[in-house]
Amino acid sequence: MPPTEIEITPQTNIRELVAELPVAAEVMRAFGLGCSGCSVSSYETIEQGARAHGLRIEPIVAALQQARRSGSVPAIRDEDRQPARRAPGAFSGRAHIAHVVPIMSGKGGVGKSLVTALIAIGLRRRHFRVGILDADITGPSIPKLFGLREPLSITADPVKRTPQGQPQPLITPAVSRSAIEIVSSNLLSESEDTAMIWRGPIVAGVIRQFYEQVTWSDLDYLLVDLPPGTSDAPLTVLQSLSIDGVVLVTMPQALATMVVRKAANLVHQLKKPILGIVENMSYFEAPDTGTRYEIYGPSYAARVAELARAPVLARIPIDPRKAQLADEGRIEELDDPICDVLAERLLGAIEAHPKPKETISII
Ligand code: ADP
Repeated sequence: MPPTEIEITPQTNIRELVAELPVAAEVMRAFGLGCSGCSVSSYETIEQGARAHGLRIEPIVAALQQARRSGSVPAIRDEDRQPARRAPGAFSGRAHIAHVVPIMSGKGGVGKSLVTALIAIGLRRRHFRVGILDADITGPSIPKLFGLREPLSITADPVKRTPQGQPQPLITPAVSRSAIEIVSSNLLSESEDTAMIWRGPIVAGVIRQFYEQVTWSDLDYLLVDLPPGTSDAPLTVLQSLSIDGVVLVTMPQALATMVVRKAANLVHQLKKPILGIVENMSYFEAPDTGTRYEIYGPSYAARVAELARAPVLARIPIDPRKAQLADEGRIEELDDPICDVLAERLLGAIEAHPKPKETISII
């Protein structure tokens, strides 16, 4: 194979490098950077990818250069592939989360988790540090979308104790291929540690633990995938976290509109802003003719936006490609402008509803 001419520097784009030098994907994977095949990498340099994953850039660039010369993956030192995470033993006890945005829906099955994932991907493409707190315990949507299966690792908090004098459990978030940090009840194993976490079957309490007892990195955006509806659990999140505002996901159905009205009223009663509406499964566009079919009936987005006093962030079509990637745990491979549209409009809405200046500290 002739040696490729592409320059390998921290500023080299990951996708372009892998296209020229396929062994680069293997090198990145050896460093735990699974992102070389995902859509975020089209927008990311080696340095940005390394930083997002908490890795040092120099060993990665050196290994890539060596791989170009030799055509194979060189030996990589263990310490070079360890992300610089807050180790539980050295846990400083403070993570700064600049913005918290719960994603809510009046009822289940409208695609709330998928929309959460699309927003997260859009924000990551803009190089923000993003986390997802999956508080929707009704199903394993979020881990499934990102292909996560490993149970979360749980250690004993070196400092904090429960009222009973036991060390508090401390959860390490899972990290997706594109470096989105994810915590989900569906990633807890049935071990004894788990029993410590589930003190009482109260969902709202679990959500609170996911917020407080997790070694989140400092994040720009934490998206919270709320349980559907207006029960206790979403209510607690809205009341107890310092949120920027809520994104409401709906579908073009009269029933969905009614339940979304209830959700909007709840948010307004709590005096929190609704940042925007996303109408999912809005229509289907035939790939051959471009004709739009309103499978679930006419759009209610404008009506819902009026009820919620919030802008429509996007109308997302029914899309077999999204469903397939979602099913296969490869949603980060979706290269669709909808991710950018959602992120951009959400950022605009957050800017339009500034919350008090200070970042919030958790743990
Ligand atoms: P919720 O979180 O509201 O319960 P999910 O995000 O789990 O809903 O979505 C329910 C199902 O619908 C999933 O299988 C998902 O892949 C699929 N789905 C959601 N939105 C779309 C869409 N726009 N096009 C195709 N399939 C979708």
